[in-house]
Amino acid sequence: MLVVMEKNITEKKIQAIITAIEKRGYTARTIPVGDRVSIGILHNKNSIEATHFLGLDGVKEVIPVTKPYKLVGREFQKENTLIKVGDAVFGDGSFVVIAGPCAVESEKQILSIAKSVQNAGAKVFRGGAFKPRTSPYSFQGLGKKGLIFLAKVRKETGLPIATEVMDVETFDLVEEYADIIQIGTRNMQNFSLLRRAGNSDKPVLLKRGMSATLQEWLMAAEYIMEQGNTKVILCERGVRTFVRHSRNTLDLSVVPAVKKESHLPIIVDPSHAAGIRDQVISLAHASAALGADGVMIEVHNHPEEALSDGPQSLYPDQFVTAMEKMKAIHAIIGNK
Ligand code: PEP
Ligand code: MN
Repeated sequence: MLVVMEKNITEKKIQAIITAIEKRGYTARTIPVGDRVSIGILHNKNSIEATHFLGLDGVKEVIPVTKPYKLVGREFQKENTLIKVGDAVFGDGSFVVIAGPCAVESEKQILSIAKSVQNAGAKVFRGGAFKPRTSPYSFQGLGKKGLIFLAKVRKETGLPIATEVMDVETFDLVEEYADIIQIGTRNMQNFSLLRRAGNSDKPVLLKRGMSATLQEWLMAAEYIMEQGNTKVILCERGVRTFVRHSRNTLDLSVVPAVKKESHLPIIVDPSHAAGIRDQVISLAHASAALGADGVMIEVHNHPEEALSDGPQSLYPDQFVTAMEKMKAIHAIIGNK
C-alpha cells in the first residue's frame, strides 16, 4: 500500500504517519517524487486496511499495491528512476552505450579498447575481472589485477567502469573499484548476493536470468531495493530457447513489458543474446528502436585472440558503424 501525502508536507507530519505505520508492525519507506512525498508500506503479511491511514493528518490518498514487487513497480513510483553514472544518465530518455571486452586480459588490451569505444561515443566501459565460466578449465579472469587495470582505464579516459561481481566473498573488493556493479544471469536469484548489492550505494546492473520470467526478474530487483539500494538498472541478455542459430534468444518484447511494470531503467545486451558478431549488430540496431535506455556491447581489438566470447565481440570499426546507426535510429524513435 502507498500512502500519498499532501504537497509541501512538514517533516513532523511525515514522521507521524511513519510512526502510525510502524505501530501496526509494518515497515515504512518514504519515496520522494517531485514536490510530494509518498510512504510505502512493506512487510505486511495480510492486506492492509486503508481506513487506518486515510483520515490521518496530511494524507491525500491511499493506493493499494496489487503487484508482488512493490518498490520496483510503477504502482509505488510512477516517474522513471534516473541513474547518473559519469556523463551517462539511465532512464531519462537518452540511449547509453556501455562497451568493452568480455574479460579484462591485460592493461594494454583494455586501454586500447577503451580509447576506441570512447571515441565512438560509449559512455561506460565494461570488462570482467571475475568471470563466470561454464568450464572450470576456461580463463576465469584476472581477479584483483583486472580491477586495478580497470581503475587505470577510468583514470586515463574518465569513463566509469561496469564490472561483474560473482559472489558475496569478493563483493567488497569489486565494490571498491566498480562504478556499476554487474550481477550476471547465473546469479540473478543468488539472494544473498542480491541482498549484499542492496546494501551498496553503487548502481547495480541486474541481468535477467537465462530462464527467468519477467516477474522473477523484477522480484530479484526487489531484493536489492528492499535493502535500500534504489539504483538498479535491468539488463535483458537473451533467454534460453530451443533455437540453434543463436546462443540465446533476445526477448525484445520484455523491454516494453518492463517499462510498463517498472520505473527502473532497462538496457539490452545483444552480445550474450546473439553469441555471433553479425547478429549482435542487427540486434543492437533493434535495441535502439525499442525504447530501451541503452545497450551493453562486447568489443575487442583482436576478437580472434580473445580469452572469452571472441565470436560475439565486435571489431572496433564495426562498433563505430553500429554506434552511428544506433544513434540515428534512436533519434527517429525518441524515448522521452
Ligand atoms: C558478461 O556480461 O560478461 C556475462 C557473463 O554476461 P551474462 O551474465 O549475461 O552471461
Ligand atoms: Mn561475455
